[in-house]
Amino acid sequence: MTVLPYEEALAAYDPVLGLEVHVELNTTSKMFCGCSTGFGAEPNTQVCAVCLGLPGSLPVVNAKAVESAIRIGLALNCTIAEWCRFARKNYFYPDMPKNYQISQYDEPIAYDGWTEVVLDGESYRIGIERAHMEEDTGKSLHVGGVTGRIHGADYSLLDYNRSGVPLIEIVTKPIEGTGVKAPQVARAYVTMLRDLLRALGVSDVRMEQGSLRCDANVSLRPVGTTPLGTRTETKNVNSLRSVERALRYEITRQAAVLAGGGRVIQETRHWHEDSGMTTAGRNKETAEDYRYFPEPDLVPIAPSREWVEELRATLPEPPTAKLERVSAEWGFTDLEMRDVISAGAVNAIEATVAAGASPQAARKWWLTEIARRANEAGVDLEEVSVTPRQVAEVQALVENGTINDKLARQVFEGVIAGEGSAAEVVAARKLAIVSDEGALAAAVDDAINANPDIVDKIKSGKVQATGALIGSVMKQMRGKADAARVRELILEKIN
Ligand SMILES: [Zn+2]
Repeated sequence: MTVLPYEEALAAYDPVLGLEVHVELNTTSKMFCGCSTGFGAEPNTQVCAVCLGLPGSLPVVNAKAVESAIRIGLALNCTIAEWCRFARKNYFYPDMPKNYQISQYDEPIAYDGWTEVVLDGESYRIGIERAHMEEDTGKSLHVGGVTGRIHGADYSLLDYNRSGVPLIEIVTKPIEGTGVKAPQVARAYVTMLRDLLRALGVSDVRMEQGSLRCDANVSLRPVGTTPLGTRTETKNVNSLRSVERALRYEITRQAAVLAGGGRVIQETRHWHEDSGMTTAGRNKETAEDYRYFPEPDLVPIAPSREWVEELRATLPEPPTAKLERVSAEWGFTDLEMRDVISAGAVNAIEATVAAGASPQAARKWWLTEIARRANEAGVDLEEVSVTPRQVAEVQALVENGTINDKLARQVFEGVIAGEGSAAEVVAARKLAIVSDEGALAAAVDDAINANPDIVDKIKSGKVQATGALIGSVMKQMRGKADAARVRELILEKIN
């Protein structure tokens, strides 16, 4: 596939984004029946006549799901409809046994809102077109073949456990004016949305389990022009990092098509994590193809204004207000705060501080040791298997002198490998600093005796030469010594 280098693409074309995020709600039962929504159960054990679409079965709306939809709408500064309906979206797919999905069409429960994301110290306002309720489909599993897709598969299996799980689809208005930062703004938006939904307590927002899914639309237009270009929609991008990568790729691909005099085709595309490319899916349907009509088996929803105001009072702190607050509480410089935000570490640091670490210590570990491991594994920061509490425990061991920063890295390695708590890893790996003054004094004597030239330098006033002796002692102690104490001992013995 031909692509244009990213900088070249952005010099010629202006990207316009549109993001559709599907959120599975964490209600205990499904959208229109009483079946469990639990993740990971045996296939087809959480189903009934309604979510299997059997003839004659009748849906009933889940009140908790409506409540969650309204709270999401309010948190995104939307207008909450005084009256709205469900609609049937008609299409055939084996994982949707009714042959239609119950969704909302021209009457969404929440519409015309906005939110804000901060990237590199700059704030971007994102318009929200709508947030509507719908039901999830079942899942197809294509067996045989190498890609896991239907092409080349020997047969397919269907699991309807997910069929009818409540979903909220949040659709942005076209996001313009982000230029070269478009992919990063998209990632920042999905990150912000994930954090907001978690704070609302309406979803477990696990991208890797599919409870938060993003479809990323992008189109290009020549720089300096207004009409929107033809967009493509990259489906089900399942990590924050992939949102950024997929958009970046799609911009360079579309730019190559346009620069070569071609036309971008309106279609859905699939993101491939391994190759870092998108490939063509089906041509994009238009609304007419779905023959939407109001769902005749469900009554309209008319949330009273009193109820809406009651729900408004339950909203968590807005994300931008939260950033301002923690920024003031932590006392980070603007640059430090910027790094924390772009690493997606705000919540992790907040939880680590709550578990007893100082803000600077929490920042240090999340942005160095843990960020490095996330990068190496190609995953998001929060997917590294270490909790804020464990980070605080490691830091507490540093502060009480049990380990130093260097040993702490080995402790993290053990904690992440599942070897137990920080204290257990220190004990099992024998990482505790030797506090035996006798052993330390002996190592210091050895270092002094072995390096008379360095000792002369120190005696003649070159105190910085002490570093070489400290290094020698630390080596002998296998790193398990307190460097400050070693320094004290060296200077005591020489002078
Ligand atoms: Zn059911």
